Amino acid sequence: MRHQGTAASGAEGYRDTDAARASDRQSGDAAAHDVAGASAAFLDHRPAAVSGFAYVDGELNAEGVRLSAVADEFGTPCYVYSQAMLTDAYRAFDGVFAGIPHLVCYAMKANPTLAIVDLFARLGSGFDIVSGGELARVIAAGGDCGKVVFSGVGKSDAEMEDALAAGILCFNVESASELEHLAAVARRMGTRAPLSFRVNPDVDPLTHPYIATGLKDSKFGVALADAHALYRRAAQMPSIVVRGIDMHIGSQITELAPYREAASRMLALVDTLAIDAYAAMVRLLFEHRRERLLLEPGRWLVGDAGVLLTRVRVVKPGATRNFAVVDAAMNDLIRPSLYDAWHAVDPVHQRSDAARRYDVVGPICESGDFLALDRELAIAEGDLLAVRSAGAYAMAMSSNYNARPRASEVLIDGRAAHLIRRRETVAELHAHELRLPATSR
Ligand code: PLP
Repeated sequence: MRHQGTAASGAEGYRDTDAARASDRQSGDAAAHDVAGASAAFLDHRPAAVSGFAYVDGELNAEGVRLSAVADEFGTPCYVYSQAMLTDAYRAFDGVFAGIPHLVCYAMKANPTLAIVDLFARLGSGFDIVSGGELARVIAAGGDCGKVVFSGVGKSDAEMEDALAAGILCFNVESASELEHLAAVARRMGTRAPLSFRVNPDVDPLTHPYIATGLKDSKFGVALADAHALYRRAAQMPSIVVRGIDMHIGSQITELAPYREAASRMLALVDTLAIDAYAAMVRLLFEHRRERLLLEPGRWLVGDAGVLLTRVRVVKPGATRNFAVVDAAMNDLIRPSLYDAWHAVDPVHQRSDAARRYDVVGPICESGDFLALDRELAIAEGDLLAVRSAGAYAMAMSSNYNARPRASEVLIDGRAAHLIRRRETVAELHAHELRLPATSR
């Protein structure tokens, strides 16, 4: 078995804390280029006063732009991203692996919005994709297909064909059946498919069960014990080129131990809370090896670079709890309901009134529709709130539940706010539906 490259999917835990947010994202180096936004609204011509999100004169700003100005221009709920934070995060992640042959492949499932993909493509990033739809987004955003790795347990033959035609770097194959399908598709097309197996190291990542991916009862990857036989079979297939080995043990992992454990079972590993410690460990393992490392960070690059801007509609005192009913809901941001994710919630305008404890909830008809529970806030109806760390698995997981149009998205580049996705209209929600034929009445 010969691995010409080693794909170690990796990323860092979701750094929800203020301390983590304030860490290595503050270099203030906004990208020089602009994204292809649908429109640009120039809200503020001051030079960027802050990098990322910070209070200026009692109001939360995104770089040099006041969030109340964004809300006035684009309405709420609205996702707002800081281009400087996205850029700094990419450069920080890429930079710590300097000296080791590597390629950062942004796991775009975290945030597949075209302008975000475009930004990372311009920074030189590759992409970790999980569907033909994501491949189409890489192409539409001008990304380099030669830097794309394709993960996922259920790729269709059509998706494989499209990815082969696009010339992607590697398929991360997750089963024996997928190997046979891929080989057949490549044979039919008269080409050879580049492959790595996603090996499941059976390590407990000590994270939420929904985002643990490397346990033996997980649907992901192939068992470590089966890997040799699969590589041997792949090496014998004329339409397959073995390129590497891949693994991913989960998301939001806050300790190094599971990585150490996984790394001891395989020469590849993934993300952790402290990027420097993670990089040091990777460096130790890979420094003297000749394989190229592919890293697949998602939330580490985009998680802290976005906020969900929302307005308080109703303040409702209750017998045991107070509720702040806001105009964003679980359809916009499902992470708190889905896996108890904790997001900081900050008022856009700081008030001197006494704070009270609130559950910040949406208008959806579900008890599970909340964005934050039991938070101390000084707020009134009509106030704007910023739900922090909303750049990853936020807009990407949004839905139209309760017939709610999806939020708009805005990218701040220091001086200007660019609309990168306009708010959906109610009419658009009906666009793919058909009424009953008249004869069935
Ligand atoms: N790579 C693979 C194969 C994944 O399944 C995931 C997340 O599910 C990621 C990368 C990105 O993880 P994260 O966003 O936590 O960095």
